[in-house]
Amino acid sequence: MAVDAPLGFPLGQCCLEESCACKPASPLTGRACERELARLGIASFWTTKRSIIKPMVYAAIHLRAGLEARSIPALEVYPYASKVLLFGRMSKSTVKKSTPEGLAHLTRRVATLVTGLRHATPNGNHDALDAVLATYTGVLHLRGQTETLGDLVEGEITIPRRATTKA
Ligand SMILES: [Zn+2]
Repeated sequence: MAVDAPLGFPLGQCCLEESCACKPASPLTGRACERELARLGIASFWTTKRSIIKPMVYAAIHLRAGLEARSIPALEVYPYASKVLLFGRMSKSTVKKSTPEGLAHLTRRVATLVTGLRHATPNGNHDALDAVLATYTGVLHLRGQTETLGDLVEGEITIPRRATTKA
């Protein structure tokens, strides 16, 4: 199952609580997968004790444990990275997800990959498009068309393989 959220804590950390003595093993910020994304020019939330998405990280790690207990692999994906790698960098004005034009544009791009999409999200909904991109990345993974960034222990991010992307 493709999950759009961190599925692990940085190496050395058992939690994201300032009150806990656990410390990141690396002097660098965040997880290796997040640093590798940054090197590709793709911004993401750093998973640190100062994260503003802590509750989501805990929920995602809990979800991972639940899935794995039922032998369902959990795959961390990042729809924004998938979008950039599949479609190339779009100018800010065309991808402004907050505007109807931006959403329509993105819906058209995603519809070139996923048949029936316009039917599913007729009014263009950004969260729905992210979910479609997340799942599509999972499909690419099953087809062997992805690569992983980061470290297995602290969680890897699966992205469309760059050689197969259209950029
Ligand atoms: Zn801790």
